[in-house]
Amino acid sequence: MTATSQEIIRSTQWHHLSVEEVTQHLDTHLETGLTSSVAAKKREHFGANELKSKPGKGPLLRFLLQFNQPLLYILLIAGAIKAFLGQWVNAGVIWGVTLINAIIGFVQESKAESAIAALASSVKTDATIIRDGQKMQIPSTELVPGDIVLLASGDKVPADLRLVQARNLQANESALTGESVAVEKNPQQLNLDAALAERTNMAYAGSFVTFGTGKGVVVAIGDATETGRISQLMEQGNALKTPLTRKFDKFSRTLLYIILGIAALMFAVGLGYGYSWAEMFEAAIAFAVSAIPEGLPAVVTVTLAIGVSRMARRHAIVRKLPAVETLGGATVICSDKTGTLTENQMTVQAIYAGGEDYTVTGVGYDPQGEILLDEKPVNLDDSSVVAECIKAGLLCNDSHLEKKDQQWQVIGDPTEGALVVVANKVGYERNSLEQEMPRLDVIPFESEFQYMATLHSSHNRNSRLKTIYVKGSVEAILKRCQQMLNSQGNVAPVDAQRIHQKVDAMANLGLRVLAFAKKSLSDGETLNGTSLEHTDIENDLIFLGLQGMIDPPRAEAIKAVKACQEAGIQVKMITGDHAVTAQAIAESMGFNNNREVLAFTGNQLAQMEESELATAVEDGAVFARVAPEQKLRLVEALQSKGEVVAMTGDGVNDAPALKQADIGIAMGGAGTEVAKEASDMILTDDNFASIEAAVEEGRTVYQNLLKAIAFILPVNGGESMTILISVLLARQLPILSLQVLWLNMVNSIAMTVPLAFEPKSVGVMQKPPRNPRERLLSPSLVKRILAISIFNWILIFGVFEWIQQTTGNIDLARTMAIQALVAGRIFYLLSISQLGIGIFNKLRGINHQVRDASAIGIGIALTIVLQIIFSQWNLMNLLFSTAPLNLNQWLICLVVGLPMILVTMVVNRFDPIN
Ligand code: ADP
Ligand code: MG
Repeated sequence: MTATSQEIIRSTQWHHLSVEEVTQHLDTHLETGLTSSVAAKKREHFGANELKSKPGKGPLLRFLLQFNQPLLYILLIAGAIKAFLGQWVNAGVIWGVTLINAIIGFVQESKAESAIAALASSVKTDATIIRDGQKMQIPSTELVPGDIVLLASGDKVPADLRLVQARNLQANESALTGESVAVEKNPQQLNLDAALAERTNMAYAGSFVTFGTGKGVVVAIGDATETGRISQLMEQGNALKTPLTRKFDKFSRTLLYIILGIAALMFAVGLGYGYSWAEMFEAAIAFAVSAIPEGLPAVVTVTLAIGVSRMARRHAIVRKLPAVETLGGATVICSDKTGTLTENQMTVQAIYAGGEDYTVTGVGYDPQGEILLDEKPVNLDDSSVVAECIKAGLLCNDSHLEKKDQQWQVIGDPTEGALVVVANKVGYERNSLEQEMPRLDVIPFESEFQYMATLHSSHNRNSRLKTIYVKGSVEAILKRCQQMLNSQGNVAPVDAQRIHQKVDAMANLGLRVLAFAKKSLSDGETLNGTSLEHTDIENDLIFLGLQGMIDPPRAEAIKAVKACQEAGIQVKMITGDHAVTAQAIAESMGFNNNREVLAFTGNQLAQMEESELATAVEDGAVFARVAPEQKLRLVEALQSKGEVVAMTGDGVNDAPALKQADIGIAMGGAGTEVAKEASDMILTDDNFASIEAAVEEGRTVYQNLLKAIAFILPVNGGESMTILISVLLARQLPILSLQVLWLNMVNSIAMTVPLAFEPKSVGVMQKPPRNPRERLLSPSLVKRILAISIFNWILIFGVFEWIQQTTGNIDLARTMAIQALVAGRIFYLLSISQLGIGIFNKLRGINHQVRDASAIGIGIALTIVLQIIFSQWNLMNLLFSTAPLNLNQWLICLVVGLPMILVTMVVNRFDPIN
C-alpha cells in the first residue's frame, strides 16, 4: 500500500464526518456495499487486515537464553575449571555437550512455540459483511476500507468502523482504553475534539460487541487501526510455561543448591584425605554433573508440545499451554447441552395449538412430511390456529434452508431451521408470506431474554394494521400473554395451567419446546413508527401455541459421558433449556449411571446461599434455565468444593465463567469471539466427545512426564551415589565427569524423548483424577527413584570394582560399568513403556494389544548403536577415555543388567506407573 493513501485514511477524523461524507470518501454504498471487483482492487492496494506481529525475541537471544538454566551454569563453570587446569579436551567436550543441549532445546522450543502459534491462528475470525448487495461471511483478514460490516453481540470488531446504524449497541473497548465497562454506541456525528474513548460512533478493531446489533463502514484496517497503532498487544508472553514447568524450575534450583553444597563438602573431605586439588576438582565436577538431570527440560518441552498436537488432532485446540496439564486433572466437566451433548439437528415433532395436539412426520431438515391429528393427516385451513402458529414460526425467524449435495442444511440457528421445515411441510414459503406481510423490524434472540420478535405490516387488508410475532421459551412468552386463541380461533383468556401441562408432557419426551404469540396493533397504538422495542411486547400478547422439537443426543457424547464417569469425572449439563427437557435428555444419556438425575433451575440456584449452592452443584447433574451470568457462580461454587472445573461456553456472557474455570472451553463453530478469547481451549467440532478426548490426552501427557522423571532421575541418583561413596571410601572414581555427561545428555535424551510419544495406557481413563495438590515427586515416586538408583549404583560400583580388580584396566572397567548401567536402563525403560508391557504380556500368553510403541523401539535401537560407537570407536576412546569391549565383555554387561527386570517388577507393584 502506498504511504500517502494510508496517511489520508489515517488522518481523516471519521467520527466528525456525516455518514454521507464517509460513504462518499470511501466510495461505498450502505445497502449494497462494495462490488467484489472494487474490493479486490482495494485488497491489492491496502493489503491484508492483520497486525504485523512485533518481532519477538530474536533467534540469537532465544538461543543464548537456553543457557540460562541453573543446571547448565554448573556445566559452564565445570568447563571453565577444566580449561583453567589446562585440560582442553575435557573443557571442549563439556562445552560441546552443553552446546548440543542448547541447540536441541532451542530447536525443540521453536518448534513447539510455532506449532502452538499456528494452532491458535488456525482458529480464524469471520466477519459478516455486505458486498455486491449480498450478506456474506468472509475471513476478517480480507476486509478492506469501505466494506460494510454487520455487528452482533459476541462479535469481535474486525477493523475500525464508522457506525451507520446501531440498535442497543454496546462494545467493550478495554483492550484499547482500559475501561472495562461497555460503551453505548450510536451513529451520531461528533465534534472534532472528541477523545478516542468518547467516539461513540466508532467501533474499534479488537473491541467486542457485548450487546445489540449494528452496522458500520470499515475506515481502517490492519496496522492503520487504533489497535495497530498501539500494538504492544501482539507481543506473545512466554508461551512455554505451565504450573508444572514452574514446579520444575523450582525443583532444579533446590537441586542445584544441594548439589553445590555436597560437592563443596566432598571437595573439603577429599583434600583432608590427601587427594590433590586436580583430583578433587575432577571428583567434585563429576559429582555435580552426575546429579543434574540435564536432559530433562528438553523432554518436558517435547512432551507438552506433543500433547498439544495430539489434542489438535482430536479437535481440541489448546490456546494456553497450562491447559494441557490442568485438563488431565479435571474433576468436573460442565457442558452446554444444545449442540455439544446433542446434535443440534432439530426436528419439530409435536405442535399444540387451538387446544389440539398435532404430530409431525418426517426426519431431519428434509421438508417432506405431514401434520397429523389423531393419526390422520390434516388439511390445513389457512385461518386455523395451528396455521397461525406455524406461520409465526416462519416469520419470526432469521434462518433458512439450503440444499447442498442432496442434503438439506440450515443456514442459521437449527432451532429456527426446524420451524422453517414444518412450515415448508405444509406448503408455507417465507418469500411469499413476507410479500404479504413485509418485515419492518426485529429483536434478535438473546439467551438473556429467551425470545425473539418481529414486526410486520399487513398489505393485503388494512395496511395500517401491524403484527408482532414473538417466539421463545414458554416462561418468557406465557408471562406476557393474557389471552390465547381457542379451538374456534377466537380470543379467550389464557389457560396457563393447561399449557404448562402440555409443555411438561413434551419436555418429558426430551423435546425442546418453543412458545409462539402475536400482537396486532393499529397505528396510533404504543408502537412508534416502524421500530420494535422490548417494551412493545411487555404484555398483551395472544398465545398461539407450542412447537416441540427433538434434538437427539450425539452418539459419541453418550460414550464420552460414560468414559468420564469411569474416569471419576463428574459431568454436568448446563443449559438455557427447560428443566424437564434437559433432565429427560440427561437421563437418556446415562448421566448419574442411569439413576435419577437431580436437576436445578437457575431460579432455584439464585435463591440459595453460598453453602447451600455448593451442595446443590455437587449433587445436581442438570442446571436448566441458567442465565449465562449464573455460570460464574456455579464454577466458583464447584471450586469452593475443591473441584478442578472444565466449563464450556459460547456466548458473550459466558466469558467471566470461562476465565474463572480451571479450563475454559469455547466452541469453535457456534462460539462467539468473546468466548474464544476468554478460553483456554477451543473445540473445533463443538462436540462433548472432544473434551473427553482432550482429558485423556492431558492425563497421558502428565503420565508421560512422570515416566520421564522416573526414568531419568535414577541414573543421576546412581551416578552421584557412586562418586560420593567412592570419594568417601577413598577409592578411584568408577565414572568420569565426561562419561557422566555422555550418559546424562546423549544417552538420556535418546531414551527419554521417545517417552513423550508414548501412547496412552489402557487404564488411563479408568482411574480417578489426580489430586490437584499432589506434589510433583510423590512419596511413591521418590521411593521408586531411590530403589532404582541403588540398583544402578550397585551396577556401576560393582562392575567397576570387579573388572578393575580382575583386569587392572581402569578404562575398560569404567566402560563396562557404563555399558552395564545402560543395559539395565534399557530393561527399565521397557518395564515402564507400553512396548515392554506388550512384550511381557505376550510372553505370559496374555493377548494384549500393543499400541504404537515404535518410538521406544527406535530410541532403544539408537541407544545401542550410540553405545557401541561410544566404546568401539577409537576417537570416542580418546575423547571419553573409554575402551573397546570384546563380545564376552558385552555379554557380561548385558547379563548383569538383567536383574533390573526383577527390581522393576517389585517397584511397579508399589508404584504402578502405567
Ligand atoms: P441452550 O442451552 O439449550 O442452548 P439457549 O439459551 O440457546 O439454551 O435457549 C434457551 C431457550 O430460549 C430455549 O429453551 C428456547 O425456549 C428459547 N430459544 C432458543 N433459541 C431461540 C430462538 N432462536 N428464538 C426464540 N427462542 C429461542
Ligand atoms: Mg443455544
